[in-house]
Amino acid sequence: MQAWILACAAIPDKQFSTSGTTVPSTMRASIQTVGIIGSGPAGATLASLLAWKGLDVTLFDDGRRPDLIVGESLVPAIVPVLRKLGLEERAAAFSLRKPGVTFTFSPDEQVAFSFQTLAGSPLPPYAYNVPRPAFDRLLDGRADELGVKRARAGAKIERTDGDGLRLSEETLSQAPWLGGRQPDLLVDATGRCRLFARALRIPAETGPRKDVAYFAHYEGFDDPQPRGQVIIGRLARGWCWRIPLRDRLSVGVVTNKEAAAELGGTPAERLEAAIRRDPLLAHAGRDRRRLTGVVTYSNYQLVSERGHGPGWVAAGDAFGFVDPMLSPGMWLALHSAELLAEHLEDLPAYSRRMRRLIKAWMGLIEYFYDGRIFAMYQTGMAFKQKYPGRIAEGIHEFFNHRVACMASGLTTTSRFGRALLRFMSRPAGLRTDPASLAIR
Ligand SMILES: Cc1cc2nc3c(=O)[nH]c(=O)nc-3n(C[C@H](O)[C@H](O)[C@H](O)COP(=O)(O)OP(=O)(O)OC[C@H]3O[C@@H](n4cnc5c(N)ncnc54)[C@H](O)[C@@H]3O)c2cc1C
Repeated sequence: MQAWILACAAIPDKQFSTSGTTVPSTMRASIQTVGIIGSGPAGATLASLLAWKGLDVTLFDDGRRPDLIVGESLVPAIVPVLRKLGLEERAAAFSLRKPGVTFTFSPDEQVAFSFQTLAGSPLPPYAYNVPRPAFDRLLDGRADELGVKRARAGAKIERTDGDGLRLSEETLSQAPWLGGRQPDLLVDATGRCRLFARALRIPAETGPRKDVAYFAHYEGFDDPQPRGQVIIGRLARGWCWRIPLRDRLSVGVVTNKEAAAELGGTPAERLEAAIRRDPLLAHAGRDRRRLTGVVTYSNYQLVSERGHGPGWVAAGDAFGFVDPMLSPGMWLALHSAELLAEHLEDLPAYSRRMRRLIKAWMGLIEYFYDGRIFAMYQTGMAFKQKYPGRIAEGIHEFFNHRVACMASGLTTTSRFGRALLRFMSRPAGLRTDPASLAIR
């Protein structure tokens, strides 16, 4: 078995030079060669970060780039990573600023969170809504600028002794610059394909829901307000998203598989029926025209029981993925790349941090599914009406601030934030039964 976890020097946490030059070879890590499989957001970002550190990086890229990909709404925590990559301005040129998120939890009740509440924190008071193909090309292009080598191949791997893995001979031959030698470290960034976990039959914890999502791009929907605001709506069964992009609106519905079957025979029939049946969606989309086909996604709550082994590690969705209601996936993908670049010498520490992050997001999302967040909001509003004044206003603002901070990625893992949410959502403190506001 080859040597695998070796020390690497720390790099300063600053933006890349836009010229694409790498850091001097004195900063080279003991792991010299890294093979990353999958050139999605996690793989391309990791390739850039490691190439910048001076490592010899090969990206195995199967070239599959669908025109329509979910993952269009980002959280503010992703912006510092874009800045580090030197890409924020370029991303902003084709994206729409996202000022916050509104949750409509009944036809006449909604709670709006503004990222403006982050002003003065390390995060910017906004995020972006991005067309995924352009965003992915941007990340990919950065890896090329930084000297990452690219093997155009759907990579295949083989098991070695125990939990080890290596590239198949055929795949290795697609990267002739490796001279037939296996990379020191292999990274699984194949997204939900989970190439390594499947090869090694690593079990995964899955979430309780068995949902399916249908989505497409439309024109003619009312523009969410303020401009760029993402709308998440509670449906009679499931939930929906409206993500404004520059020239269109991304609309998706998420529902359980049985309810989906009742909506129609094809994905297009199901998406259209879900829009027609929801009063808010139907009204906002009364003049709608669908611009694209309808894409289906299913099974998207999962975390691998192991995220690393001898000579290999997983990043992004290949490590684990969280329900998309709060849009943490793209940030988790890019941040896993950051964490891995920092912890190449300590993969167990990387895995622990990833697991903790994924679990924290899963925990936060539960509050929205089981109705506690909406019950807290209703309780606060009732208090405000009964006792109008500065104290009630302050409590209301505090609630909005705490939730926005957690849902932006700023304090998602904070013990204080989580304890506070637990405390505020005690059944005794709530005026409404959360179950009546749960997402079914
Ligand atoms: C319904 C739904 C809605 C979502 N909405 C959002 C949202 O609004 N905001 C958000 O932030 N996230 C969202 N996500 C999550 C987000 O899409 C993912 O978290 C993100 O794409 C993960 O990036 P990744 O690089 O890990 O994987 P991917 O984007 O899946 O990239 C993996 C890459 O690996 C390649 N590949 C696979 N196998 C091989 C192989 N053998 N050889 C070579 N290449 C290979 C693939 O072609 C692909 O290019 C959503 C997810 C779902 C399911």
